[in-house]
Amino acid sequence: MSRLLIKNAQIVTMNTKEEIIKGDLLIKEDRIESIGLSLKETIADRVIDASGRTIIPGFVQTHIHLCQTLFRGKGDDLELMDWLKKRIWPLEASHDEESIYYSAMLGIGELLQSGTTTIVDMETVSHTDYAFRAIAESGIRAISGKVMMDKGNEVPVGLQEKTAESIQESVDLLEKWHMYDSGRIQYAFSPRFVVSCTEELLREVQKLSTHYNVKVHTHASENKGEIAIVEQETGMRNVVYLDHLGLANERLILAHCIWLDEQEKQIIKERGVHVSHCPGSNLKLASGVADVPGLLDAGSSVSLGADGAPCNNNLDMFNEMRLAALIQKPIHGPTSMNARTVFKMATIGGARAVGMDHEIGSIEIGKKADLAILNLNHFHTFPSYDVDPISRIVYSATRADVETTIVNGRIVMEKGLMKTVDKETVLKEADASIKRLLSRTAIVS
Ligand SMILES: [Zn+2]
Repeated sequence: MSRLLIKNAQIVTMNTKEEIIKGDLLIKEDRIESIGLSLKETIADRVIDASGRTIIPGFVQTHIHLCQTLFRGKGDDLELMDWLKKRIWPLEASHDEESIYYSAMLGIGELLQSGTTTIVDMETVSHTDYAFRAIAESGIRAISGKVMMDKGNEVPVGLQEKTAESIQESVDLLEKWHMYDSGRIQYAFSPRFVVSCTEELLREVQKLSTHYNVKVHTHASENKGEIAIVEQETGMRNVVYLDHLGLANERLILAHCIWLDEQEKQIIKERGVHVSHCPGSNLKLASGVADVPGLLDAGSSVSLGADGAPCNNNLDMFNEMRLAALIQKPIHGPTSMNARTVFKMATIGGARAVGMDHEIGSIEIGKKADLAILNLNHFHTFPSYDVDPISRIVYSATRADVETTIVNGRIVMEKGLMKTVDKETVLKEADASIKRLLSRTAIVS
């Protein structure tokens, strides 16, 4: 039994009492064994001195596209439908197995280095097995799936798929990867959005997600143009339509949810649907500002995600937390989204969205050891005297302050050095991959 002892830390637990405890943290294998006791170094195989350091639960990002990390900087200054049709779909259609792998590794490297330990990820139509390989090797905790899109205008040939093929490939991937490495990896059915999916496909996803008891991860009500298409085709609002198909339940994770009406908000609340709020992406694509305070006041589940690299252009939870708080203040007032509310969304709120709040999202005895060690001894995070540590983390800290990241009891980054992702190779292959993709992609300007 391997034991890792982290000494003398300030531990921001995010347990139900939101306790902040000073002392030692002991990890046995993949789980937290004790918190706050002063333990002898001899009981552990490995000791980390965390004097003056702050331990937080690893961040849970509930909306990510690892397959798009290679497109960072390739879709700037466009709104959603142009961004998809002119850039992202043609680029996704050009992916090959190797480019999917390195796109995933590039994203995972960034995520782990900035303290994110769990992601909900949506891949593209093809080669998703190679994203799962990167996830498996890197040690990150992930709920992922191939995107499903069996209809739509202006979709490049490389992304067009038949309903039956889309379902069969999803099921094959699920059977190979769901619950891999004792559940560190899980599968989620990932229909892109209503605009890209036939009713037949969505009905089948509903049946299969019930049968396998897995998540459904999709986008909804991100953009007014998108909603107009859905209303025209189905005669219903987005969330009403998903509910009509039986998809609105506690297994559903909906990215964005900016333009909801009262009926849709009610469905989200009553059915226990999880909303993934992506403020960086929503601002950059000029989509709008979601009514997160309203959703939270109603008791709905809201968590955070960076979305994809080409619409953000970072996968950095510190960025998302800061934006999630600040963008609401001019609309709803200065107290509407405080640091604690946002930090909860970034940790235990994300864990709740993926149905794993009994396992991750807070630092508690018996839970999985998914955490980040921060060094807040910097000009930009001082003074520390009589300042709420959560205020320091949400409003002042940056990803550069993450010193060490641990997932499932395994150190994946230590003192800035990646243990499971070969940075030099990934950067080199990322450039080689995007060069190869661009040479065969018809980008519409
Ligand atoms: Zn997205």
